[in-house]
Amino acid sequence: MSATSAYRDTWAEVDLSIIRDNVKSIKSRLPASTDFIAVVKADGYGHGGAQIAASAIHAGADGLAVAYLSEALQLRRQGVTASILIMTPIRVQDVSLAIKHRLELTVASAEWLCEAMAYVPKSSKSKLRVHVKFDTGLGRIGIRDKSEWDALVPCLQRKSIIVEGVYTHFATAGRSDVRFLREQAAKFEDIKAWIKEAGISVRRYHCANSVAALRFPELAMDGVRIGAALYGLVGDDYAKAYELKPALSLHSRLIHVKRIVKGQSVGYDVAYRAEEDEWIGTVPIGYADGWSQVLQGSEMLVGGSRAPIVGKIGMDQVMVRLSRQYPVGTLVTLIGSQGAEEVTCSELAAYLKSVPQELSVSLASRIGMLYKDRDLYEKIEHSMARV
Ligand SMILES: *Cc1c(COP(=O)(O)O)cnc(C)c1O
Repeated sequence: MSATSAYRDTWAEVDLSIIRDNVKSIKSRLPASTDFIAVVKADGYGHGGAQIAASAIHAGADGLAVAYLSEALQLRRQGVTASILIMTPIRVQDVSLAIKHRLELTVASAEWLCEAMAYVPKSSKSKLRVHVKFDTGLGRIGIRDKSEWDALVPCLQRKSIIVEGVYTHFATAGRSDVRFLREQAAKFEDIKAWIKEAGISVRRYHCANSVAALRFPELAMDGVRIGAALYGLVGDDYAKAYELKPALSLHSRLIHVKRIVKGQSVGYDVAYRAEEDEWIGTVPIGYADGWSQVLQGSEMLVGGSRAPIVGKIGMDQVMVRLSRQYPVGTLVTLIGSQGAEEVTCSELAAYLKSVPQELSVSLASRIGMLYKDRDLYEKIEHSMARV
């Protein structure tokens, strides 16, 4: 591995061929009629939104989803032409801008849609493409009951509205106890009946995120919204069972190596003292890069072995205990594998008491991003990834 990011020995790599493999692997488990909506919010879970969008579409994804209007507009500016669903309600005054960019919007209340109608340009060609969001148990956003639905129906019947989708989101897709998920799914079936009764035609019903789609193929319906699994950011069990690989790896190099003797301290607040004579390496990454202080004690790979972080993580640098002396410049892998050893985002997420994707989205723009593709001869450095 010779490439590094500009002027800095810490860089992330995204293998776009793995993104394509993951799309194909997930698609092969879904009914052919189910749309694959690639979720590329939060800059593609920290992997680079436009690059992931292009790779996912190339591999057969049918459309994209993001959280915010700002994210959708950035993808359009970067030349992404696929359909984009915005999963959080936008400000009503931005509706005409969204229509201009052919964006699909989430309707989570009747009031929002009634107010938004004032911003739909009057020309007969202007259509507001919406996905109606139902809250079947997550308690976040969406229509919760029949009376709210009844209030929404007259607005949905307007000629300028196209109901591209009706959807919900599960609260417990990854839990072993499936009762709550089954209740949510049953509510969604009732909702389908309300919609039929009202005579509203809906292009697609979609309710499953990554884990729901993988665990319960019968819930795939007309579309699935796949985020975490697209990036291979799932637990090891899922990764194995569904042949998913993590696309992101993170690397650095030792910038300083020293021998310390028993009793000497390392780092702020003298938080670590050597219990014997030890080799200590310094790695140029810190909490300003998203390598949070809660990762203290986690391990990195140096020379194919695990090296634990010792002392507190600083803003820009962190120290690790080495199994032996290594030269300055030795490759350090913070996420990814060296030989038989591998550090995954799931392993590190345990320190964060969170999910693997919290780590990938936390990586700061200060870390350069390098794109690899085994189908291309050259690596393409894309310093614009996080603009
Ligand atoms: C983020 C998000 C998804 C993707 O979830 P994953 O678990 O990452 O697959 C799907 N649907 C909604 C509404 C989301 O906000």
